[in-house]
Amino acid sequence: MIEYCALASGSNGNCYYVGNENEAVLIDAGISRKQVLKRMKEVGLKIEKVKAVLISHEHSDHIRGLRVLSDLHKIDAYLTKTTQSKTRVHHQPFKVNVFEPGDVIEVGNIKVHSFAKKHDAVDPCSFRVELNGKSIGVMTDIGTACSNVKDHLQKCHAVFLESNYDEEMLLNGPYPAHLKSRVKSDHGHLSNDQAVKVVDKLKDTPLKTILLSHISADNNRPEIALKTFQVVSDRYQIFATSRYAPTEVFRLEPGSEVQEKADQLSLF
Ligand SMILES: [Zn+2]
Ligand SMILES: [Zn+2]
Repeated sequence: MIEYCALASGSNGNCYYVGNENEAVLIDAGISRKQVLKRMKEVGLKIEKVKAVLISHEHSDHIRGLRVLSDLHKIDAYLTKTTQSKTRVHHQPFKVNVFEPGDVIEVGNIKVHSFAKKHDAVDPCSFRVELNGKSIGVMTDIGTACSNVKDHLQKCHAVFLESNYDEEMLLNGPYPAHLKSRVKSDHGHLSNDQAVKVVDKLKDTPLKTILLSHISADNNRPEIALKTFQVVSDRYQIFATSRYAPTEVFRLEPGSEVQEKADQLSLF
């Protein structure tokens, strides 16, 4: 059995849970420990199962809660050496393990494939979490869908995929010009249109479920992101994650292709 859930997704904090019967990993710790515990409790997940927290890059919405969470719950932290050198983590978390993008990190029976991505951070990477023969991808904060993203996406059964902004909303929105260019650049974020093109091009892959992630509060709306993905809704189940609350826990049985529970934010 595989369980996955976005506890938080957006520029105010990211934290994604992927686990099996016995163990689990968190990807990113961008919300406080208190919020992690509160949100896990809300959806019936247990912190005791979490054996590792892996950090995608040093931006505070991905790392803010790491030290306290890791220290108090004795959870191993994993970050690249370069990311570690840039973080403002003054006290070491419980145990810091360094890796290089491309490394496969084994946590019990879970294999986490790390890979480099394009984003304006020192050593950004994304992850594909492999367990019980299935893969769940966590791919946010990507300026462009590089070959690594495309390659790992081919192997995913479900993916948390960045759908950060609506191009028109960003253009007419409140951000200053330099920030608009940063978001749009190849080292910024993926728009709804860019994200849907990536999955539309996939052929003969096991991907069935897409969770639209890191949805901007200023330059996007979950309804708009979901609407953009309507063109691929005959091939995929599409759901939106939220910055304010956890999604439901999605479950994938080893033999099945479709998760059992549906998220309330789905339009389809
Ligand atoms: Zn972010
Ligand atoms: Zn970032």
